[in-house]
Amino acid sequence: MDADPTVIRSERNPSHALVLNGVDVTEEDIKAVFKWLDAWEIAAPFRDYDHLACDEGTVEERQLTAELIGDLRQPLYDSRALWMREDNARARRFVKRLGTERKKCTCAEGPCDLAFLRALWKVKPLILALPRGFIQPEKGPVPASSRLKE
Ligand SMILES: [Zn+2]
Repeated sequence: MDADPTVIRSERNPSHALVLNGVDVTEEDIKAVFKWLDAWEIAAPFRDYDHLACDEGTVEERQLTAELIGDLRQPLYDSRALWMREDNARARRFVKRLGTERKKCTCAEGPCDLAFLRALWKVKPLILALPRGFIQPEKGPVPASSRLKE
């Protein structure tokens, strides 16, 4: 995981935040999701469509996750781009839980996205699943402004 995540806020509603971890999302897409957060509590893009939960993490962690969520034949979310409503208790609880679940990750290369699924299952925030294409292929420059006009 990258050192410091970038937090971008909506100018229209500063409680609508995007936490970016070493990936890029277009300004247009960021703004669109900020608007959709009026109806949803969190939002995140799917990971690669051919990489499911059963392909992620270590054997032990997959087992831990399967015991909780029952079935690993499901898509993963890319936790490197997470939109959330900070004025929403369930969204805040989800983010806190995500931190807890990441500590249970046994993967050598750092927190995997099984933690995200476990946190989803436990807190059940209203999540808007975004297309994979929301993550830009190459990392570009960090936005100059941390607030976007909508
Ligand atoms: Zn892991």
